Amino acid sequence: MSLSQRIYSLREIALRELESTASDRALEDWRVRYLARKGELAAVIGELGSVPGEEKKDAGRAANTVKAELQAAFEEAQQRLRATAPDEERVDVSLPGIPPMVGGLHITRQTLYDIEQIFATMGFTVFETREVETDEYNFQLLNLSPDHPARDMQDTFYISDTLLLRTHTSPGQIRAMRQYCPEPLRVILPGKCHRYEATSARAETMFYQVEGLAIGHGITLASLKGLFKAFANKFFGEGREVRFRGSYFPFTEPSVEVDITCYCMGKGCTLCKCTGWLEISGGGMVHPVVLENGGYDPDDVTGFAFGMGVERPALNRHDIDDIRRFYSNDLRFLQQFA
Ligand SMILES: [Zn+2]
Repeated sequence: MSLSQRIYSLREIALRELESTASDRALEDWRVRYLARKGELAAVIGELGSVPGEEKKDAGRAANTVKAELQAAFEEAQQRLRATAPDEERVDVSLPGIPPMVGGLHITRQTLYDIEQIFATMGFTVFETREVETDEYNFQLLNLSPDHPARDMQDTFYISDTLLLRTHTSPGQIRAMRQYCPEPLRVILPGKCHRYEATSARAETMFYQVEGLAIGHGITLASLKGLFKAFANKFFGEGREVRFRGSYFPFTEPSVEVDITCYCMGKGCTLCKCTGWLEISGGGMVHPVVLENGGYDPDDVTGFAFGMGVERPALNRHDIDDIRRFYSNDLRFLQQFA
C-alpha cells in the first residue's frame, strides 16, 4: 500500500469514528488521536521523507487534503455537539461575564469617616459607647433631672422605667470622662441616636450624631470656635466662616448654636433659606455639674462639648432632598454613593 493510500484509509477510519462521538470528552480524545502533533496523521506525514520522488509528491498532496478535511470535520462535530447540548451545559465563552454585585460604604458611614478623619488630625480619638442607655446617663448626669422641662426637647423610646434608647451621643461624655479622669481628654463620640418623633424630609427617628469633648487646662469658647473653623474648611471647603449664636442646653454653659457660611457664600439660596448661614452644630462649655459628674474638678479644668448631625451635612453636601432616603434601602439611591 502506497503512503497516499494509507493516508486516505486513515481518513476513512477517522471519519467513521468521528460520527459516533457523542461528548466533548470523546471529541477531544479523537482530536488528540488524529490531529495532534503526535497524532496518527502526523506520524504518517513523518514518513514522507523516506519515500521516492513521485510517490512523495502524491502523498504530500494527500496529507494536506486529508488534514484540512479532518480539521473541518472536527469543527463540524464540535458545532453539532454544542447545538444538541442541554441549555445549562452550553457555555458561550465569548459572552462578557456578569460581574458580581459589590457592596459599598453607606453614605452615612462615608460621611462619618470623613468627619472622624478630620478630627483625628486635630488630636481627637474615637470613643464608642452603648446605644441602650440608662436614664441616669442619658439625662440625670447631664444635668437633666427627672422633672427638667428640657426633657421635652427629646422625646424618648423607653425600654423600661430606667432603660432607653439614647436620644443623643452625650451620655458617652460621662462614660469617657469617668474612664480618662483626671487626664486631659479629647474624644469624638460617633453613633446612632433615637427620638420618638414624627419623620419628615429633615427628621428621622434614628439618626447619627458625632459628639466632641475636650477637657483640660485653658480650654475656652474660642478654642471651640477655632476648632469649628478648621473643621468647616476641611469638610465643606475653604473660605468658610463660623458664627456662634447664644442658645441653651442643660449640659453646657454658656451654650451656642454653630453656623457656617452657606455654599452660596452669603448670596442666599433655598438651602440656607436666604440667610447665607447653615446651622451645623450645637455646643458650649461643659457645665460644671457635668464636669463634676464625670469626676473632674470644675475649679481646676474646663472643657467644651459639641454635637452635630451626620445625615444633614451629607444631605447638604450631595444636595439630597429627603433624609428618609438614607435608610429606606433603595439600591438606586445607595448605589450613587457606592
Ligand atoms: Zn445659601
